[in-house]
Amino acid sequence: MNFITDRENSAAELYDMATEASVNAYAPFSGFKVGAALLDENGRIFTGVNIENSSFGATICAERTAFVKAISEGSRRFTAIAVAAESQEAIPCGICRQFMFEFSPDILIITGENRRELNIRTLEELLPIGFRLQEGRQ
Ligand code: ZN
Repeated sequence: MNFITDRENSAAELYDMATEASVNAYAPFSGFKVGAALLDENGRIFTGVNIENSSFGATICAERTAFVKAISEGSRRFTAIAVAAESQEAIPCGICRQFMFEFSPDILIITGENRRELNIRTLEELLPIGFRLQEGRQ
């Protein structure tokens, strides 16, 4: 998958993977099933779903699920993430924007109501001034 030479088709393919993943979402409270497909700089793809919890604060979004899976498998830099929901465009929430900013401030965010009407935005458009500690302070 190459976003430089074939961006539109690649975006649609990634969006399809997000849609397929959304089937596994656990959303008994909102009924809003979301899937995500995250592409890392080496071409690996990680999917994620939203997972709700009876203790609402323990809920995690599809985007962060995909990131957690990828980071725990050793990926650190990402090219694009597609987010898909069944009935409407799913835009990453503020927590997910900040979460993504930590690893890839220039990641492309692919959303849309369906694969034929995709919106591709940079994270910088969605989060113009993200927070980041200076590196090397751990
Ligand atoms: Zn979120």
